[in-house]
Amino acid sequence: MRYQNLKLNNRPHTLFTIAKKSGKKWFGIRFYRWLSIFCINFLFFLSYHIDLQILEGTLSGSRFLGFHLIDPFISMQMFLAHYNLHVNLIIGTLTILVFYLVAGGRAFCSWVCPYSILGEISEKLHAVLVKRRIIQSHEFNHKIKYVFWIFFLFLAFFAGYLVFEIINPVGILSRAIVYGWDIALFIVVILFLIEVFFAKRFWCRYICPIGTTYSFLGYISAVKIKRNSECDHCNACFRVCLVPHVLDKVKDKSQDKKEVTITSGDCTLCGRCVEVCHKNALGFETKLKKLI
Ligand code: SF4
Ligand code: SF4
Repeated sequence: MRYQNLKLNNRPHTLFTIAKKSGKKWFGIRFYRWLSIFCINFLFFLSYHIDLQILEGTLSGSRFLGFHLIDPFISMQMFLAHYNLHVNLIIGTLTILVFYLVAGGRAFCSWVCPYSILGEISEKLHAVLVKRRIIQSHEFNHKIKYVFWIFFLFLAFFAGYLVFEIINPVGILSRAIVYGWDIALFIVVILFLIEVFFAKRFWCRYICPIGTTYSFLGYISAVKIKRNSECDHCNACFRVCLVPHVLDKVKDKSQDKKEVTITSGDCTLCGRCVEVCHKNALGFETKLKKLI
């Protein structure tokens, strides 16, 4: 199956493969990302259906080999709604925070969240419709997500209830994968349609407070995208990036002779920019490597 932009800077690729420099095709980063999402969510499914006690629960709250893991945004809402946090919630939240401080804050979005697969499909459909001039794409200021982040926390505080969880597509999808069909899935369908017909990756770019919470960790996390001096400013990376504002440093020609690290926490470490770069100017940087 062919995917968007059959040739990105002369690197032919399909949905899951990309041509290497030698011309040989191999699995692209998307293959590993989707595999990661599938395996994590399948482990949740197996824990419920055959009692395989590796990863139990859902993405909102789970246990990995007995260790509690809690989505930090859920913990914040619970604290604001009920003014206390059970010790297991604190431990589970801290474990997740430490993990994503190392792995890269919004890596959750590209490597764990099941909605991101739907988001990528909607993005493809949206691009086709825009290209055929059937619809117009809409862009907004990405900083609006901070307003939603505060808004949903306020809702929890004033309602004494986790209001956001009613419409949270991540939680809805995760529960549906584990427990089966749920009427709440219609919310996911509506979001998907908005992303196809109205604005590219509308939910992930402008609203999702889960992604926003992880983005705060992303500013100081150990894994980053780095640009070397080979960059010729062809802008291929901008065209494929979910959050192109994070690549502003790449645009900066005054930094041409230097290596530049993408420090924005909004980067989801999806690796799309790395793959499309015909100069191999972009790559993953791990600060931990330097420490070892
Ligand atoms: S922004 Fe939210 S819905 Fe989108 S991939 Fe990240 S966690 Fe999932
Ligand atoms: S900068 Fe690269 S790795 Fe980060 S979100 Fe954009 S395309 Fe993905």
